[in-house]
Amino acid sequence: MSDKTRSGRVVLIGAGPGSPGLLTVAAIDVLVFADIVFYDRLAGDAFRRFVRPSTELVDVGKRPGRLQRTQDAISARLVAEARAGKIVARVKGGTPFVFGRGWEEVLTCSQAGVEVHVVPGLTSAIAGPTAAGIPLTYRGLPPLFTVVSGHTDPALRRPPVDWKLMARLGGAIVILMGVGTFAEHARELLAAGMAPDTPVAAIEWATTPEQRVVSGTLADGAETFTAAGLESPAVIVIGRQAALPEALESNVGDLLAPEVRAAETPRGSLIGPLAGWRVAVARSRTTDSTLVQLLRAKGADSVEVPVIRFVDPQDREPFRAAVGSLCERSVGAISWTSAVAVDWFFAALYSSGFDARLLSGSVLVAQNAAVSAALRACALRVDVKGEIPPMASSMRSTALLIGEVGQLGRTNAAVAVASAAGWDAYGVPVVDAKDDQNARDMDLAGTDAVVFASSRTAEAWGRLGLLRPPVVACIGPQTAAAAEAAGLAPDVVPAEPGMQALVDALVEHATVLRRTDLKPFTGGVGGARIEVDE
Ligand code: SAH
Repeated sequence: MSDKTRSGRVVLIGAGPGSPGLLTVAAIDVLVFADIVFYDRLAGDAFRRFVRPSTELVDVGKRPGRLQRTQDAISARLVAEARAGKIVARVKGGTPFVFGRGWEEVLTCSQAGVEVHVVPGLTSAIAGPTAAGIPLTYRGLPPLFTVVSGHTDPALRRPPVDWKLMARLGGAIVILMGVGTFAEHARELLAAGMAPDTPVAAIEWATTPEQRVVSGTLADGAETFTAAGLESPAVIVIGRQAALPEALESNVGDLLAPEVRAAETPRGSLIGPLAGWRVAVARSRTTDSTLVQLLRAKGADSVEVPVIRFVDPQDREPFRAAVGSLCERSVGAISWTSAVAVDWFFAALYSSGFDARLLSGSVLVAQNAAVSAALRACALRVDVKGEIPPMASSMRSTALLIGEVGQLGRTNAAVAVASAAGWDAYGVPVVDAKDDQNARDMDLAGTDAVVFASSRTAEAWGRLGLLRPPVVACIGPQTAAAAEAAGLAPDVVPAEPGMQALVDALVEHATVLRRTDLKPFTGGVGGARIEVDE
């Protein structure tokens, strides 16, 4: 019976061998939408950083000495959750179709009429040896390798592996799930005539910070592994390839780039003065991620926290009146108090059937640099920066002061200045700002710093009651004052306002702190644009 009318589905995701750097973009694309995630021991932790805070996480790990869920029970649960309309992610170590029982789950879903997809991952069988500097193929050696399970549990009812045949295949033998049974299989290979001095290497927790490589020969491997306390999970390689890293001068394992190896640094990097810092960027607008990029360039793990949502003002009358004056060509000057006001003004103008040509003949005034930049993005040149100039008798007499409902004070002040300068001045609020309540659902625990690039974001942060990270950084004095008033007294304010200056000041602060205090580390989610209204 088909149940495809619902949007629920199951996606099997291969999470790779453990390093977050080896999770695929395709996997992340699914994780950010998942409603529920089933994972097990080898799935690693990296996937957690990409799921939403509300996503349910279910550990279905099969571990020695713990109550085990049967495969049937797991598959049944996947089906039930998908039928309830959920996007179900089933995260597995490596790739789902290599000793991962992925096909069983696909079958169960498919037979139940549940839509099912598979995102391939990087298998430990290949990534493990690579991370240890062991090439699985090499010009001077037979051109093949074999991946085999060392597991001999008769309950699985797998046909037995013919180890005598394995001994004659040539090429590397890669054993998964083979730590406990290595002695037994080594004996079989030796009995079948494989050379006792054939090199072997075991890579434990490959690609994670716990990666360890234990090397020996087919004859002494079992003993060497036991003596070293080798445990699952480990990939074992048998063949001349296994000894190749030792032929190199460098340390075994150093071949894997440290960025990939570092399991705890999914978004920030290991390098840079802000490495290890999780920095929240309070965001209000929707497409500018400059500040986030500047922070990442310094090694920080930056997380955007949208605290403001912009909406149309309830009272549209001032805007309609302003358009009327523009149509009558009676407007001599237009001034904007914020970049957001520029965006919303032009959006409203356009959706009313007009465009920028309506402004021709008016003097354009930008009250700050952010307004200039926003006008420039509309291909409009600013005539005057700062306050509105005095009205001259040759000019049309009306001035429009475009601003925000939430910042009527600013608009009113601009109206007063314009009136004093001789204009018939009108305040035109074109946009309203609301606190984005969704910010309360974000997990900000472990955040080391928050950066505010505008006073409104600092005020919203305070009103929303979000936690105060150990370090508060503000872009300039105006934002700093707003933060202070919101109970978020800033620790960092650059001498000159600006995004790069803000990041530099934070770096300086971090460098001083680093001497006394090493920060804990967690990951986060990405997003978009921030606003500067200094
Ligand atoms: N589907 C997985 C394999 C599952 S079987 C994949 O494609 O990689 C489980 C075995 O995989 C473990 O016993 C171990 O042999 C191997 N394995 C998985 N992750 C590993 C890791 N990070 N380091 C070493 N071995 C690993």
